[in-house]
Amino acid sequence: MIDHSYDVIVVGAGGAGLRATMGLAAAGLKTACITKVFPTRSHTVAAQGGIGAALGNMAEDSWEWHMYDTVKGSDWLGDQDAIEYMCRQAVPAVHELEHFGVPFSRTAEGKIYQRPFGGHMRNYGEAPVQRACAAADRTGHAILHTLYQQCLKFSAEFFVEYFAIDLMMDSEGRCRGVVAWNLDDGTIHRFQAHNTVLATGGYGRAYFSCTSAHTCTGDGNGMVARAGLPLQDHEFVQFHPTGIYGSGCLITEGARGEGGYLTNSAGERFMERYAPTAKDLASRDVVSRSMTVEIREGRGIGADADHIMLHLEHLGAEILLARLPGITETAKIFSGVDATKEPIPVLPTVHYNMGGVPTNYHGEALRPTESDPDAVCEGLMAVGECGCASVHGANRLGTNSLLDIVVFGRAAALRAAEKIKPGTPHRPLPKDSADLALSRLDRLRNANGTQSTSQIRLAMQRTMQNDAAVFRTQEVLAEGCQKIDAVWSTLPDIRVNDHSLIWNSDLVEALELENLLVCAKATLYSGEARKESRGAHAREDFSSRDDVNWMKHSLATIDHNGKVTLSYRPVHTYTLTSEAKYIEPQKRVY
Ligand SMILES: Cc1cc2nc3c(=O)[nH]c(=O)nc-3n(C[C@H](O)[C@H](O)[C@H](O)COP(=O)(O)OP(=O)(O)OC[C@H]3O[C@@H](n4cnc5c(N)ncnc54)[C@H](O)[C@@H]3O)c2cc1C
Repeated sequence: MIDHSYDVIVVGAGGAGLRATMGLAAAGLKTACITKVFPTRSHTVAAQGGIGAALGNMAEDSWEWHMYDTVKGSDWLGDQDAIEYMCRQAVPAVHELEHFGVPFSRTAEGKIYQRPFGGHMRNYGEAPVQRACAAADRTGHAILHTLYQQCLKFSAEFFVEYFAIDLMMDSEGRCRGVVAWNLDDGTIHRFQAHNTVLATGGYGRAYFSCTSAHTCTGDGNGMVARAGLPLQDHEFVQFHPTGIYGSGCLITEGARGEGGYLTNSAGERFMERYAPTAKDLASRDVVSRSMTVEIREGRGIGADADHIMLHLEHLGAEILLARLPGITETAKIFSGVDATKEPIPVLPTVHYNMGGVPTNYHGEALRPTESDPDAVCEGLMAVGECGCASVHGANRLGTNSLLDIVVFGRAAALRAAEKIKPGTPHRPLPKDSADLALSRLDRLRNANGTQSTSQIRLAMQRTMQNDAAVFRTQEVLAEGCQKIDAVWSTLPDIRVNDHSLIWNSDLVEALELENLLVCAKATLYSGEARKESRGAHAREDFSSRDDVNWMKHSLATIDHNGKVTLSYRPVHTYTLTSEAKYIEPQKRVY
């Protein structure tokens, strides 16, 4: 075993991990970033449509309107102090990215180009506003590459293709670092740090059909659960309205932002019925549900009447080439459609996880207690899609995740720099600090059961796809809990064929499967318990939002046997400063 000591360790090199790494290194802290894939291959690279900020470059806008839209989008489950922080920081954050070198698309006057996006409105819901700052339809690509270059400038150290297995915790409940496996040479490493920042992304791969990369396996969430800490709001899973039918690849909401629209088998622009003001630019949960209803009521398209059409052809080849070149290519490759001439077949597809590791707006992970629901777990932070600050509440608005990753990546670095003096000596690690990680690795490496990882994973993915879908009922969710327990109980029967420690993708996938199953359990159990509809959690048997009983965050704790215990913590119904006004719960219409 090889030992390393750092002031701070970041696990993950997507947008969140890189923005944190850069800030930490710039503050003079000895910083290491550990990542299982090369930094610029992280899922952030796939983000298309844009990053939200009320720059007001193309139409009047304000951070107050952005905050209002985000609270409304969250269906009043978001923490308003964190939302205020994010929406106010958005404007300097985007300017900072521009100065770092992100090649944003430009307006005729040379300002950053902005397009409309779902749920982003002017003047408290009056009409769609142009708020999504875009680099064509490759915004995530531009941001990720720029942030990586900035990290190199500040001499952060990278451990690339290292797989973090588990956290090292001490008897006082502090996080002391992480154990990782070097995939290339098979060595095991203990990374000791005063602070460990998890930035491991989402867990879309718990589902059969999703827009997320194969690497989005909830590893950070799994590590946190095994450390005995809770996962927050996992029942809220976002379905993106426009995954390509069949492959699930994403067609950005920016396509509708540029004027694209949806039709059913009658050729009707049905969104006008469901959202008279915002129409095709209503919030994602609203559009996904409307599409599902159209298909269910027999107005789907195709031989099986099972999808919807997205029209872009009327925009013309010139606009598509300039503003949406990536998705024009994607449509051609994944559905054989020339988007300049024909509509694209689409279907709601799993896209984003609103839930994750509960944190405050500094990115510090929480260990909530009865008396202090905001108590901090010392030594641990979580940012980006694996964290839950919670700025997205029950439903995230498009463009607010690229924003979340840079704003909270930066916030975590600022907080760590405030708390840690560079070079502070480390206390010795507990003797058993690597035991959990090593025993897991050993158990799976020598697992000699009868079921392959892919068999168990498929059973999990089918359960999630069927039982934690766009629409939910008690019966289906209860069945989902039973089924996911059954899948969990097959884990001891897993078989890993490759017993080596070098480039053993069989073993990596087994470790990832355990993390995904933790996430899946938290999603189903929290969803079964939540007897209301809010944001992405749409229950047919409890069709209204219930603020009296359910305006609270779910916390799921999962023990080593897979037993789920649920508890709750209050939503922050206050703002950060007196300059922002608390936004009272209202009916959510678009
Ligand atoms: C197709 C697509 C398009 C999107 N478009 C937009 C958009 O236009 N606007 C918007 O706001 N949002 C968009 N989103 C959402 C947004 O891109 C993501 O939520 C965000 O980029 C997540 O960033 P992250 O840094 O948290 O995680 P990621 O970018 O997923 O990075 C995770 C990192 O963690 C590392 N990691 C994970 N597990 C381990 C482990 N065990 N050991 C070591 N390293 C590990 C990985 O190597 C990786 O570096 C889109 C998402 C998708 C899937």
